[in-house]
Amino acid sequence: MPEKDKKVTPPAPSEPIRGVKASVEPDSMIERRNTEPATPPVRERRKYKVSETPPPPAPPPKLNDYASIIGQPEIDEIRYIARLLRGKTVKMVNSTAVGGGVAEILNRLIPLMQELEVQTKWEVITGGNDFFEVTKGFHNALHGGDYHPTKEIFDIFLMYNEQNRQRMEFVEDIFVIHDPQPAALIRSKERNRGKWIWRCHIDLSNPHREVWNFLKPFIEQYDATIFSSPAFTRQLSVPQYLFYPSIDPLSEKNKDLDESYVQKVCDDFGIDRSRPVITQISRFDRLKDPVGVIQAYKLAKKYVDCQLVLAGGGASDDPEGAVVLAEVMNEAGDDPDVIILNLPPWSALEINALQRASTIVIQKSLKEGFGLTVTEALWKRKPVIAGAVGGIPTQVIHKLTGVLVHSVEGCAYQIRYLLTHPDFAAQLGRHGHEHSKENFLLTSNVKRWLILYQQMLGLNKPVKVT
Ligand code: UDP
Repeated sequence: MPEKDKKVTPPAPSEPIRGVKASVEPDSMIERRNTEPATPPVRERRKYKVSETPPPPAPPPKLNDYASIIGQPEIDEIRYIARLLRGKTVKMVNSTAVGGGVAEILNRLIPLMQELEVQTKWEVITGGNDFFEVTKGFHNALHGGDYHPTKEIFDIFLMYNEQNRQRMEFVEDIFVIHDPQPAALIRSKERNRGKWIWRCHIDLSNPHREVWNFLKPFIEQYDATIFSSPAFTRQLSVPQYLFYPSIDPLSEKNKDLDESYVQKVCDDFGIDRSRPVITQISRFDRLKDPVGVIQAYKLAKKYVDCQLVLAGGGASDDPEGAVVLAEVMNEAGDDPDVIILNLPPWSALEINALQRASTIVIQKSLKEGFGLTVTEALWKRKPVIAGAVGGIPTQVIHKLTGVLVHSVEGCAYQIRYLLTHPDFAAQLGRHGHEHSKENFLLTSNVKRWLILYQQMLGLNKPVKVT
């Protein structure tokens, strides 16, 4: 019988070790529930120590470095498209220089644009705590949450936008304003001839009506808008474009790793690679349904052997994260095959290794933006089981690039099915990789931007042949 088909007897409840802590926080961050073990641990696990400070950022890659991934013709095409834009100037504006997906994308995108001689400047708006409280409220409200906006709230938003607008110069050919926080900078449009693009990274499918009604008149002054999924858009009087979020295949999170490093991370975390490993990498957030993942694992485990790795972060500074982590610990009980990791934000290499070591990657979200963890897993040729929510179905085409699920039972069924049908699982992984390569890589994103710039500046009109 293949190893993966063997049924392993669950350990006795008294066995104490479950979960390995990988955290710079005190030991109490991940408590082992039985601190007084009645019997020795099932197997010795070393406590993994992730570096206590972020490592210095690696220098950004050059465009040619991507040739080994997407091929030289694709690189040549990007350079060809960029040639008409040489010397054009672009200003990108968002609300944070670090943390969050937008900053991550801009950090990788802008050096490539500079290399292509499309002079791209990145500016970050500033504001007091009151401003960021308001914009956080807007963010949640635009995602459909409860919110009670007042005139004062709208005034704070406008006041800080106006302050930033007065401080900034708008002399470029193109302005790309990211997300709602700086949306009112569009008030500078009258004074110059540049083109204005609003890049929305959030799901506007069910926005809070008052907040959206407040923002919409600003948005409709832009020359174009960009959304991350067809499902995220609103009816607008201005053109809308679809840009998928992207991952950088050369970043620490996604680059190829030596097998010895992957093995080392698994050894340190106590993961046994001779048995199937199913993994969910996510913040400890109820909308990511980590408890549902454990329940699905438990159901599947009645039929197939596997270990479950739940790796996340943010529990130390997010009160809700700590509560969810406690719920996760409780649901895991004393099962030594459930390995719960609380990682600091600079664990990209470790996350990369965990994804690569996984037999299956799960993202059983109940609500999701785009779900970059899914993209990362597809890129690594992993069979993915994911909730059919948000941007996930754009990435996981059911039974082609992964499988979509709607319940704990569905997830358990798919775990069992994929672990017992490794050829099908491998095929999903191959297709998933191709899908991510075609649509969700930084280089595709660069190309989309260049084509849009050309279009906005009227540079890609058909040539009249005489
Ligand atoms: N991530 C991470 N550490 C964690 C959990 C997640 O670095 O402990 C990364 C994950 O690899 C992905 C991103 O954070 O790149 C999460 O993006 P996603 O769109 O999946 O979800 P979000 O957290 O934005 O809702």
